[in-house]
Amino acid sequence: MSANSSIDVQNQMKIWHNRRFNNYNHYLQTTYGEKIRKVSLHGGFTCPNRDGSLGYGGCIYCNNDSFVPHYIDEGMTIPAQMDVSIPFMIDRYGVQKYIAYFQAYSNTYDELDKLKQLYEEALGYPNVVGLDIGTRSDCVDEALLEHLARINEKVHVTLEYGIESIHDETLKWMNRGHDYDSIVRAVELTRQYGIKVAGHVIMGFPVESRDMMLETGMAANSLGLDFLKIHQLHVVKGTVLAKRFQDAPFPLFHSDEYIELVVDILERLNPGIVIQRLFGDAPDELLIAPRWGFNIPKLTHLVDLELKHRDTWQGKLFI
Ligand code: SF4
Repeated sequence: MSANSSIDVQNQMKIWHNRRFNNYNHYLQTTYGEKIRKVSLHGGFTCPNRDGSLGYGGCIYCNNDSFVPHYIDEGMTIPAQMDVSIPFMIDRYGVQKYIAYFQAYSNTYDELDKLKQLYEEALGYPNVVGLDIGTRSDCVDEALLEHLARINEKVHVTLEYGIESIHDETLKWMNRGHDYDSIVRAVELTRQYGIKVAGHVIMGFPVESRDMMLETGMAANSLGLDFLKIHQLHVVKGTVLAKRFQDAPFPLFHSDEYIELVVDILERLNPGIVIQRLFGDAPDELLIAPRWGFNIPKLTHLVDLELKHRDTWQGKLFI
């Protein structure tokens, strides 16, 4: 065996369903053996950063209308939302099994009994095989995690934390209302309960250097995330960020620069981390900038091309 054998193994190219990064479709296919889609649900939650517990304005880029599906109305019950969403999923994607995804606002921010009821309503629907819950690191406690751990014995549960940046000065700038330590604690606690953890990060805050963004992407390794979502910063109508951008425009990523950064992150990531997303999207009528003119499949293809061009892959530089 050569002295370099461990490096040789590390440097062997990895492919996940024709892609050079550990993509979510590959994970779903290998975990469930068939196509699965997430059903976005609106649990009628708010957020401590909006209702006055921590603040009123929310994070400066936040407009939850930008990720609630157009066919969902926040007044609808969970079963009514499933009734509308699932025929749509079957029609458009031909899928038969679903992950219930509580996405808008902070989906653990209520009394435990109310949370139990909402999650059970979603899980009671036929062919729901998973529960994904988007939330803030300061909106979880041990009682909730104990309950989710029990659900996790029957269906896969994932808690998705908004990390956004690991830099406290950036978190302050965006009016996040918590620091990075809060994320570290919540992720650690969630992992202790055996629940999978997803993290969401944003690249392109104008107060950050490229190196700071790279550090945020790579924090998925030290946090031990199971899933990672990376988004470009979007300036969306109805936000404080939009007002600032209109008053004094700041630079935003061009698609080429963003793709280069994403590939830099991917090659440094643990290859076991499943990439759920590499790009954000926002409804056309809400998005102010950047407007790249490409849809997500096209952008993902450009990432594939860049990985190939550099002859690299997720984890090639992971230490
Ligand atoms: S991004 Fe999340 S945490 Fe921030 S204001 Fe919006 S819902 Fe609240």
